[in-house]
Amino acid sequence: MPVMPLPANPSSAEDACALPALGAASGRGAHNDDPARAGVTGQDPLLDALMRLAARHFDVAAACVLPGEAADVPAWLGAGVDAPLREALREVREVLRTTARNENESMVEPWIVNDLDSDPAWQACLSRASALPFRFVAAWPLTGANGDALGSLCLLDHAPRELSAQQRASLDDFARVIAALAHEALPSDATLRAELDTLRERERLLALAIAGSGTGIWDRNVVTGEIRYSTGWKAMLGYADDEVTNRIEDSYLRLHPEDLAYVQATMRAHFEGRTDQYEVEHRIRCKDGSYKWICSRGKVTARGSDGHALRMVGTSTDVTSMREMAERLRESVNLVTNLTNEVPGLVFQCRRAPDGHTCFPYASAGIGEIYELTPEQVATNAAGIDALIHPDDLDAYRASFAESAATLAPWHLEYRVRLPQQGLRWRQGDAKPQRLADGATVWHGFITDVTERKRIEAELQEFAMTDGLTRLANRRHFMARLDAQLVLLRRTGGPDCALMMCDLDHFKSINDRFGHAVGDDALRHFASVLREHLRVGDVAGRIGGEEFAILLGGADLDGACTVARRIQDCIAEAPLLSQTGTVVLTVSIGVTQLRVDDVSAETPLSRSDVALYRAKKGGRNRIERA
Ligand code: GH3
Ligand code: MG
Ligand code: MG
Repeated sequence: MPVMPLPANPSSAEDACALPALGAASGRGAHNDDPARAGVTGQDPLLDALMRLAARHFDVAAACVLPGEAADVPAWLGAGVDAPLREALREVREVLRTTARNENESMVEPWIVNDLDSDPAWQACLSRASALPFRFVAAWPLTGANGDALGSLCLLDHAPRELSAQQRASLDDFARVIAALAHEALPSDATLRAELDTLRERERLLALAIAGSGTGIWDRNVVTGEIRYSTGWKAMLGYADDEVTNRIEDSYLRLHPEDLAYVQATMRAHFEGRTDQYEVEHRIRCKDGSYKWICSRGKVTARGSDGHALRMVGTSTDVTSMREMAERLRESVNLVTNLTNEVPGLVFQCRRAPDGHTCFPYASAGIGEIYELTPEQVATNAAGIDALIHPDDLDAYRASFAESAATLAPWHLEYRVRLPQQGLRWRQGDAKPQRLADGATVWHGFITDVTERKRIEAELQEFAMTDGLTRLANRRHFMARLDAQLVLLRRTGGPDCALMMCDLDHFKSINDRFGHAVGDDALRHFASVLREHLRVGDVAGRIGGEEFAILLGGADLDGACTVARRIQDCIAEAPLLSQTGTVVLTVSIGVTQLRVDDVSAETPLSRSDVALYRAKKGGRNRIERA
């Protein structure tokens, strides 16, 4: 017993040293300087002090508390006892057990052996008396407030000795004080009862939670092949408590044949330590013969020294309705996907996070036609789409989504895309926005190809604005442009703008001489001459049979007359060469300037008409100004 703290010379009380049991502590002496001893001193400094005091008072080598055996004796009574001393004290306790017990099996009487070597009772009970490093033992019972045997206060000494009556009385006093201290350290009955109630309540709630969750519990002894199921487990499958055997082979018979191999393989993987836990979804046959889908989870809780599984516990949860729901959900998703894939164009869900990040969590197969992309390419990031938007429409595209997100107004936009295969195409998008709890906006909508419609619209617009014969602006469009020019002039006071009115001379006789078709050619010929002399921003229109008007932006009267002269020169130099002969054309021109006080397009038009009339009157092929 190398750590027994008995001093070499046990005769002096000054050298006495309390044993390092819990509630016992080293007194002064060589061992006090040993840092390794610190861990075996008691946890209660007051009890430590009492032990030292007792050792000194009785002039014995050691005093310590020997823990009792009752289940509720606090662990701390023995917690600080080191292994060798524990060993020796166990011997003492063995003896106490056989010699000093009453009928209740608890030690109630003081027990004092003056000399172990000559005590017949001790010798009879002790197997290793000679190995013990002491000869005197006194064990005084520590009795709790309710009569419980808490343990005993022990005095040990190397030499045989006797206790006087006074010393016995002192020992009893010490024992009372220590028992009181021990009792204080014990939780009160009320506290214990409260803790017990809390635990029972927790257990009840846990049981309720497990029952309420449709979960059963099983406990499998892997070695014996026995498996025990909770009542809830059996009830889940419609069995009464006594209707399910404890044999694992029977449990395999209840498994759906298609699931058996998979379940066993998963179980094996866990037994062999290849998985952290066992988890598998499978079908089990109920009492009524139907199958339920079960999610089984478990874990090996005990393994043999070579790692093989000994015991496993786990839960089984009925997931039948969850699987049915998932199946129904899958079916509806398939239905939606199939339907949307049949719709021409792209059906989509677009999500825009508060930070502006945009993606298309759902895109129908039509995205191939609309953007030449796949749903996967836009599922987490819509940047691939932005890259395809025509640069001139990109700002409007982004602004339209931003506005719809801000106001939750439906998104609608017609815009152009430039696609690798199809080139320039028109797209129309419509979607309804929704705000999510996290601040994101989600749109559900569709995008269609409107290229053909846009082409027809453009054609119609062109048709509505132009003269079919000459492709110049028609009268209505020309007048609208003239009005717009007047508005600009009135608002800004500039720039100069001239109006020129042309009327082909003696056109009736051209028709008469060459035929109406050649007359038409002559009109087209004149229109092409006009086009040659127009600058960007000038507008030429056919406003009557063989009457043409030209709006010359940035031109004053002199400038307009110069242009008029060039037109006359050009038409003179380039007569129409028809199959029936050369058609010489001349044109009379009246010129005026737009004025701020012109009330409408008619005003400058009639002014130029007046000038034109003068040109006709003056002999034709002339230019007059008004
Ligand atoms: P003036 O020198 O005084 O202008 O004589 P004019 O013969 O040109 O004038 P007038 O107004 O008498 O005749 C215009 C003619 O232009 C009458 C009409 O048949 C012809 N005309 C009008 N529209 C068309 C057209 O679309 N095609 C052809 N071929 N002729 C047209
Ligand atoms: Mg005319
Ligand atoms: Mg004419």
